[in-house]
Amino acid sequence: MAGRRVIGWAARDPSGHLSPYSFNLRQTRAEDVVLKVLYCGVDHTDLHIIRSEIASASYPLVPGHEVVGEIVELGAEVKNFKVGDIVGVGGLVWSCGDCFCCKSNMEQYCNQRIFTYNGVDLDGRTTQGGYSSAMVVHKNFLVRIPDKLSPEQAAALLCAGVTAYSPLRQFSGCNEPLKAGILGLGGVGHMGVLIAKAMGHHVTVISSSDKKREEALKHLGADAFLVSSDVEEVEKATNSLDYILDTVPVVHPLETYLSFLKPNGKLIIVGAPPNPLQFIASQIITGKKTISGSFIGSIEDTQELLDFWAKKGLTSMIEVVKMDYVNKAFERMERNDVRYRFVLDVAGSNLE
Ligand code: NAP
Ligand code: ZN
Repeated sequence: MAGRRVIGWAARDPSGHLSPYSFNLRQTRAEDVVLKVLYCGVDHTDLHIIRSEIASASYPLVPGHEVVGEIVELGAEVKNFKVGDIVGVGGLVWSCGDCFCCKSNMEQYCNQRIFTYNGVDLDGRTTQGGYSSAMVVHKNFLVRIPDKLSPEQAAALLCAGVTAYSPLRQFSGCNEPLKAGILGLGGVGHMGVLIAKAMGHHVTVISSSDKKREEALKHLGADAFLVSSDVEEVEKATNSLDYILDTVPVVHPLETYLSFLKPNGKLIIVGAPPNPLQFIASQIITGKKTISGSFIGSIEDTQELLDFWAKKGLTSMIEVVKMDYVNKAFERMERNDVRYRFVLDVAGSNLE
């Protein structure tokens, strides 16, 4: 079925508006599978990219890198999967396999990596993502969805979930209960709360308003909730946290958040505001604090998270919508009106 014609929803320009787009999948190779897409999560990065905010987009562009699909065809060299398997695809569809990063299960940092969409594929074409009826993916970039997980729940783990899980793995084996801060309670942030709690950390949500307090404490199980504009609460939080996972997608001052960290504390930035962030050097110097970043997770991290999620019986808060709602979903995500991840029911939508 090489080169089969499929329908996706694509952006044509930086307005970020999506509409139906018919295109040919790339030729399948011996190590590829063809997936029928079932569900695909909607990440804030999709919005940044289709608007050319953090990378120049190659239009027409079909976004989507939280893809759960069913294998409908296998290349001759694919031995570890079979037709009918339910698998996931995250942010990458290829890496060199040969460099230090690839050999250390950090292929997301390989400098030849190919992103699931808006990447340049081996045949020179632009890769297209999971807001589409089907995809062709190399077998090494698939994860298995555990039977216990529903495909729509699994979708949001493939980017939002693993983006929170991958940097938090560094704390495993730490004997004392860590004090965590999750800055920004959106798609990635709410995964951060659930995962950090499941790892046994004490979790404080740091939010821009009071609106999500009850949900954070009652439904997501956070231990504390702090509104970043509340001067009194901010003062009390000084030197109280071991780490903060910063998921905010817009420019925000780092001083307040750095002040929350204990000496040796870590600010882990995963949110990707399109413009530069600033901080005062003495704030990190005088507290031996670290500012670091983290990008999605490896295939190994992603499989580990899916298994961890199933074993712990965790449930994220998602809103499943049809494809014709996607522009509205972007609009709502932008005005911070999503609890907490939109997941597109791709197979259940009329894509035409
Ligand atoms: P999201 O669902 O829109 O959540 C962002 C959260 O940030 C909001 O829920 C909100 O939480 C807070 N926020 C504060 N000020 C805001 C503002 N002016 N506008 C919107 N939100 C604001 O986004 P997401 O999908 O979680 O993604 C978050 C960021 O992480 C994006 O920049 C995305 O590109 C990036 N990302 C990075 C990676 C990676 O690999 N590093 C992976 C996935 C996503 P409160 O209401 O609690 O303030
Ligand atoms: Zn590599």
